[in-house]
Amino acid sequence: MKVIATRDIGVGEEISLSCWLPHTPPFTRTDILTPLPDIPLGLPSAHRTMALAQQWGFHCACDMCLSSREEKQASDARRERLVQVQVLLRHEDTAYEALSGLANELVDLARAEGMTTKLSDFAFTVATAYFKRGDLATTEKYADVALRYLMAFGDPDSQLVADLQKNIEWLRGLRAKQAQNPEGG
Ligand SMILES: [Zn+2]
Repeated sequence: MKVIATRDIGVGEEISLSCWLPHTPPFTRTDILTPLPDIPLGLPSAHRTMALAQQWGFHCACDMCLSSREEKQASDARRERLVQVQVLLRHEDTAYEALSGLANELVDLARAEGMTTKLSDFAFTVATAYFKRGDLATTEKYADVALRYLMAFGDPDSQLVADLQKNIEWLRGLRAKQAQNPEGG
């Protein structure tokens, strides 16, 4: 197993992880018959605490779960907005002009919530939004970002990486063809 820190770790600082189990086969946990359900990264505090207690049977005492009411409220608001921004990016009625603001907001929120490992997913969502509106140059820019984060935090030899690389190659080809024949559509 490889562990990558997304920020500096202080001396004696506890390292915690989201209660998420990789589902990629083979499922190697043999000490439990039924795999425990995921507590996905990014849940608001009340939902997280309840899910951990009910499904995993413990009360989390990490820095985040023990933070003040105000800090929790601020974090929850960011997490709720993060979901909203993704919905807006996926919605076909969202104007092209709104995309770059939403994309920047998504990245800022993810960083504020320490969700750097999700930046690949988020960049992919932004790339898809631009692709649907025919902006291939910006699609490629965000697809490259998605690939970079996927390689940094995931398995560089995975099928996901190979597929994304193939899509980026295809995009480049499409853009080259459009540049040669701008009227052709
Ligand atoms: Zn916690």
